[in-house]
Amino acid sequence: MALAEFDLIKQFFTRPAQHKCTRLSVGDDCALLSVPEGYELAITTDTMVENIHFFPDVSPQQLGYKLLAVNLSDLASMGAEPMAITLALTMPRVDSGWLQAFADGLFTLADKYQLDLIGGDTTSGPLTLSIQAMGLVPVNQALKRSAAKAGDLIYVTGSIGNAGLGLKIKQGYAGQDMQQALQRFHCPEPRIKEGLAIRSLAHACIDISDGLAADLGHILSKSGVGATLDYEKIPLPDAVIHYIQQTGDWQMPLVAGDDYELCFTINADNASKLNIACTCIGAIEEQQGLRIMRLGKTSQFNQAGFEHFNLGASVGH
Ligand code: ADP
Ligand code: MG
Repeated sequence: MALAEFDLIKQFFTRPAQHKCTRLSVGDDCALLSVPEGYELAITTDTMVENIHFFPDVSPQQLGYKLLAVNLSDLASMGAEPMAITLALTMPRVDSGWLQAFADGLFTLADKYQLDLIGGDTTSGPLTLSIQAMGLVPVNQALKRSAAKAGDLIYVTGSIGNAGLGLKIKQGYAGQDMQQALQRFHCPEPRIKEGLAIRSLAHACIDISDGLAADLGHILSKSGVGATLDYEKIPLPDAVIHYIQQTGDWQMPLVAGDDYELCFTINADNASKLNIACTCIGAIEEQQGLRIMRLGKTSQFNQAGFEHFNLGASVGH
């Protein structure tokens, strides 16, 4: 769709560059970025496929926002500052109304971080959306999954379970105060500010995309350590507490994904210097495995979060 493709890119995805590192943006075979002295590039890609990662009835605006948010969340978890993105768009047909709304959602979030869309690809096929995000982090300062140490405290930003509840609502659950959960499910807030604030304090960090237990599990295995979580300390929104009281499904906040909060480990001295909204929920230990302390009892937690290839396609992650 050669000519239409160029028109479409010009109309919806070509804007003046905002970031000082963008040397050449949309329009050539490659974009050009400069990396300032003393920094390295943090690069990540996330793809969303219709019926697997989102429902067909989601608004294109929310989709544009969320596609960027999940990518920025990966930058946040490394302590990187967003710089630029590329966008690979596969669509069954060209629909200007859809594209305008999608671009609006995407640029609403991009503009918050003076982030440039510097290139991409546009093809025809089943609706599949991919972003590659690039960020800057001072050399050797990125927060890696492998850096947790026995004795560290475990923290999460914000609250856990809202997006999981949002998915339950989409699947038919009806409770009170559903708006916040749905908002979080559709429009997660990437914790960029928090990632930057903890960069010089924390050891390991990960963003919660597949569920607290699974994502913390990645830190544990990469770092060769274990942990005990104090379930009662996990910051749960009222609507999630209400959901658990109604259903008995206390594991939901541990296994549900899509919250995009940060989970990080930090030594106790540095923890006292934290000045972001976060909660201590447990500690890193030498003994491998994940243990959950709940109602005065500690038990081994084995149930992994969502695993794409083991469980097959399921809307929501
Ligand atoms: P090529 O065939 O050389 O890869 P394309 O014709 O695919 O180039 O794209 C032309 C220009 O438009 C390139 O600079 C490319 O990065 C950009 N581009 C294509 N699709 C998108 C998109 N969805 N969003 C932003 N830029 C895009
Ligand atoms: Mg191309």
